[in-house]
Amino acid sequence: MNFLDRDNISLENVNISILGAGRSGYAAAELIDTLGGNPFISEFKSKTDVDLAKFNHELGGHSLNVLDCDLMVISPGISDKIDIVKQAKLNDIPIVSEIELASWFTNSPILAITGSNGKTTTTMLLYQMCIEAGLNSEIVGNIGIPFSHKVNNEIKGKINPEVYVMEVSSFQLEHIIHFSPKVSSIINLQPDHLDRYDNFQNYINAKINITKNIKESDFFIYNSDDEVLNKFFKNSSKNYIPFSLNMESRAPFNSNDTKVYYYENNIEIPLYYFDESKLVGSHNIQNILSAAIMAHSFKIPISSISKAILDFEPIPHRIEFSGNINGTAYYNDSKATNLDSVKVALNSFDRLIILILGGKNKGEIYFNNLVELNNEKVKKVICYGESGEYIFNQLDKINSKEYFKDFSTAVKMAIKSSNEGDIVLLSPGCTSFDQFSNFEERGNMFKKIINDYLN
Ligand code: ADP
Repeated sequence: MNFLDRDNISLENVNISILGAGRSGYAAAELIDTLGGNPFISEFKSKTDVDLAKFNHELGGHSLNVLDCDLMVISPGISDKIDIVKQAKLNDIPIVSEIELASWFTNSPILAITGSNGKTTTTMLLYQMCIEAGLNSEIVGNIGIPFSHKVNNEIKGKINPEVYVMEVSSFQLEHIIHFSPKVSSIINLQPDHLDRYDNFQNYINAKINITKNIKESDFFIYNSDDEVLNKFFKNSSKNYIPFSLNMESRAPFNSNDTKVYYYENNIEIPLYYFDESKLVGSHNIQNILSAAIMAHSFKIPISSISKAILDFEPIPHRIEFSGNINGTAYYNDSKATNLDSVKVALNSFDRLIILILGGKNKGEIYFNNLVELNNEKVKKVICYGESGEYIFNQLDKINSKEYFKDFSTAVKMAIKSSNEGDIVLLSPGCTSFDQFSNFEERGNMFKKIINDYLN
């Protein structure tokens, strides 16, 4: 089977093994089925959330039957290093990610966003800009709506998108061949997922893959304040557009102390004033610049870009205000699962913070390296969960710290330790999977405890 001629790929009677029965694996099977192919889903776990009865499948491990195929689709959660993938490579079976597969069967333009932090915020913002411009728009990808699902609906005539706005993770970019967004962006690159990648360079390589098939008529938007990105892209051609919190002459939008603006006939025109947007913190200015320049490159009118920014409601679990008890403000940043997002959260406040850190660690994270984690900013650190003790032992410069295994106990102790004027901040820096199914569940538990106290 030849998958190199993108415009002439047919899945008719093609045997395709899908590794992983999550939402995207299931959606890939549906798409393959629609296109006349034969999907076979193989799942390591013995139970799944989705009903697989419709498809050939196996549960509880990957048997050698997986190798009896012409193409393998690999789910984002599955590492290249597992045996069955190694064997597939030895057998020369082509391996693609789910977004690659789906991209073969649509000609609608894709606007794709990746980065270590800020992906979801930027993707939602860009999607709103497209909607404001009156475009028939679909939001897909890592955000929780599989691309394959929407492309399947497109093929069936249920939707007719003029644009796909896509959040992409590094994992989804590991196995691409033709995937070619019209406009793409990397917001930033920080060490993350080092449990999955052997080193930072491998993670960078996966992210940079987003530009693999870029054409002269496409655009790539990147953060030139990011050392790694700047080094990589600073000498690129004109369709590589940088943005910066300092003046960046190549960017159509820039920021000063009060606003983001652009020039028209040499006159500075505001895109929006910071105090008009609910997105707080300089990290959000980066997200806004990235989305705005992407939209601008895609010829979305400036009025639609500005309206989307002004109307944007922050997404839950990202430095989300969660209540006030006796003059202490509570913030839920459960989505902060790496060092850089903790840093961003600490920089968003100028009051004393009681910080809750912990959960399940993604490889070695050195919280001690965070300059912002100091006694001037942080009144107390409360560590919890599987990684809690490890973090507690690292923080040798912090005057006040405690460790509790259980998340609820940690939150209750944070409430007890607070005084009027403090901030209690859940910005855990680790994933939630030791005590919760996902970061939403952890954030909701935090908010429930605060609410119970309030009542
Ligand atoms: P992602 O989808 O990449 O995880 P989100 O938009 O969901 O990004 O934000 C996750 C967390 O990352 C937020 O809680 C915030 O603290 C932090 N964050 C958001 N944008 C940025 C940014 N541009 N730079 C650094 N950290 C950010």
